Amino acid sequence: MAFTIKPLVRGLGTLLSKSGRKGGRKPAAASAAAAAPSFSPVIIPRPQHNISRANISQGALRALRQLRDAGYDAYLVGGGVRDLLLGREPKDFDVATNAHPEQVKQVFGRNCRLIGRRFLLAHVRMGREIIEVATFRGRADADLERQSHNGMLLRDNVYGSVEEDALRRDFTVNALYYNIADFSVVDFGQGMADLQQGLLRLLGDPRLRFREDPVRMLRAVRFAAKLGFRIDPQVEAQMVEQASLLIDVPSARLYDECLKLFHGGLALETFEKLRHYHLFEVLFPDTDRCLADEEEHFPITFVSHGLTSTDSRINAGKPVTPAFLFAVLLWEPVRRLAAKHAARDQEGDIPALQRAGAEMVARLVSRVAVPRRFTLVMREIWQLQPRFDMRRGKRPQRLLSHPRFRAAYDFLLLRAQAGEVEQELADWWTRLQQQEGINPQAEADYSPDLGPDPFSDFNQDAATKPPPKRRRRRRSPANKSAKGDES
Ligand code: ATP
Ligand code: MG
Repeated sequence: MAFTIKPLVRGLGTLLSKSGRKGGRKPAAASAAAAAPSFSPVIIPRPQHNISRANISQGALRALRQLRDAGYDAYLVGGGVRDLLLGREPKDFDVATNAHPEQVKQVFGRNCRLIGRRFLLAHVRMGREIIEVATFRGRADADLERQSHNGMLLRDNVYGSVEEDALRRDFTVNALYYNIADFSVVDFGQGMADLQQGLLRLLGDPRLRFREDPVRMLRAVRFAAKLGFRIDPQVEAQMVEQASLLIDVPSARLYDECLKLFHGGLALETFEKLRHYHLFEVLFPDTDRCLADEEEHFPITFVSHGLTSTDSRINAGKPVTPAFLFAVLLWEPVRRLAAKHAARDQEGDIPALQRAGAEMVARLVSRVAVPRRFTLVMREIWQLQPRFDMRRGKRPQRLLSHPRFRAAYDFLLLRAQAGEVEQELADWWTRLQQQEGINPQAEADYSPDLGPDPFSDFNQDAATKPPPKRRRRRRSPANKSAKGDES
């Protein structure tokens, strides 16, 4: 997506030299200190940036104002500020404040819930919105015991100043703060200049910042794809060098990150970047090994087709589920292992796939903790594949009435697209459904067969909601038709 931020940073050069400096130069956190920005925060006054209150959600504005009126400092932070400056619709709005969690609770009363183990945060309910309000975090090195032997941060519940909070953030473009007191933007790490250049640069020394939190490597890839930004060469070099550190990240967190990576509407591009930086092989080693091979002189394209189809669903506003995504990502290694089992142990196709599926799921969850309600569905999708070859007698009818038929059929279509099975086979099943009066385009049911209430989990989170469209939140009536054109 092309966008320009030139107008909003016009005169940035002057700003960098002349604008009001906020306080003196602060000692940076040791972790970020090695390459801490060599200048003080820059304040960009309201007339010189494009963030308008009209584009901030009502809930976030109310939270900011209530904190301000109670005498606290309050800023809009993170991706919300970055996206507004870029003219994109933010995914969410986060608030940072000098009020401690109990004080935040006092300000918002019953509408506030304190959550989090790693870091105590407040969730504030504002009508239908939940606004995350975090107290400024202190220096990462304030207590070295919080780091593991390899420098990874384990716990981090130290409060600090706004400068310290900013320096703990990952990328300079994520360290821009919108101040509700005077509507200015405070730039703590040359984020404005980097936004203008489309550059992802870590605050501080990339080697240390990745060691503190290797997930930042995945975030770099995600933002590079989402924003269309370049990754700073120094950061890139460290990504390649430190990719293997991801192995030490808890598998539940890697699962959350995988969903953000692959369910953001740019899965294919993200996947290619992950492979480029050798990060994909850490997350999905078995798949990566398969992708390096060719089959009958053709590169293996199944994963790419699957991710393209995920992207089109998301961009069309259709729901997607982790079960299908991970079934796609793991299919190559599963079918190879099944073929090996079938050849070596003279097993039938279905039991061989069953065994291979169970083994691959066990390997997957040890690294990326896909919840069981999804792995059950993945295994069903795989196991049904050989049954598409059985087209005689009553078998096709039985398969049609299988609760997971739709999901398995969608998967078959992908296999045909990737040339793994004949297109004729997929077409046969499409025709059969038409003959039976079934709509082959109907939505699949991905809820696992768990007993009396198979929908209980599904309704909560089985289908990941598509991300918001990349549009501005508010539009004047004149723009409304343009909105229709876009969608
Ligand atoms: P998105 O639009 O995808 O939500 P985001 O930048 O808001 O992007 P979040 O994961 O919502 O990303 O995090 C909010 C902010 O918190 C980030 O902008 C960044 O400043 C900070 N942050 C999040 N994760 C990390 C991390 N692992 N290390 C340092 N800072 C982080
Ligand atoms: Mg965010």
